[in-house]
Amino acid sequence: LIAIEGLRKSYGEHEVLKGIDLEVAKGEVVAVIGKSGSGKSTLLRCVNGLEAINGGSITVDGARLAGDEAHLRALRLKVGMIFQQFNLFPHKTAGQNVMLAQQVVKKTGKAAAEAMARRMLDRVGLGEKFGAYPDQLSGGQQQRVAIARALAMEPMALLCDEITSALDPELVGEVLQVVRGLAAEGMTLMMVTHEMAFARDVCSRVVFMHQGRVHEAGPPGEVFANPRTPELQSFLGRVA
Ligand code: ATP
Ligand code: MG
Repeated sequence: LIAIEGLRKSYGEHEVLKGIDLEVAKGEVVAVIGKSGSGKSTLLRCVNGLEAINGGSITVDGARLAGDEAHLRALRLKVGMIFQQFNLFPHKTAGQNVMLAQQVVKKTGKAAAEAMARRMLDRVGLGEKFGAYPDQLSGGQQQRVAIARALAMEPMALLCDEITSALDPELVGEVLQVVRGLAAEGMTLMMVTHEMAFARDVCSRVVFMHQGRVHEAGPPGEVFANPRTPELQSFLGRVA
């Protein structure tokens, strides 16, 4: 579904992604791990079309995207993204937050957008919270609204960048439970995470980034049990 070939991305002189090759099949759940600054967020931002790329290509569902503005827009429609910060509009209800992008970006009519918002809030376990404002919701609930908002755009794949990192520990589980459900339903997922137990349980593949490259990758059983490179061994030693 997603094919990344020779992807390069620089900020000024600083090359952050130095030729990434990665394929994600439909329904696959890929965990992206690696230490701070290794390029994990940049990789996801490129795949979501938030960043112009300097080399290589990203192909989503057969459409090769070279990185000009029209392509970036197309990419953003196909691939949803959820961030550490929920970025909900504080003066809009949960339901309105989920409706907004559909209406603005996809030009969905109000009734259809509302019906979709109710379905998606239901799907993340917040069917009762359509009319609640963000400050009436817990962090975990707000993040689930953000997931519903991304799902309402009917993306082909969902990218998650440390979506539980800003949450109090007791709220992490409910968000991961939603992600687990999406994985079980066959959603294609790429997620940057520090939740190694979750990665081991739910992901079909783990990708370890180091200095802007995919340093090691494989099924979680192999990657966690038998890390081959000293860099991954030391990374796992630190997070375990
Ligand atoms: P973390 O675990 O801390 O989130 P990361 O693996 O997600 O790290 P990135 O955010 O992708 O790392 O950053 C990779 C490198 O790119 C870092 O050296 C960072 O300083 C640099 N970088 C990221 N975004 C920008 C930007 N907008 N402008 C300039 N440099 C950037
Ligand atoms: Mg990051």
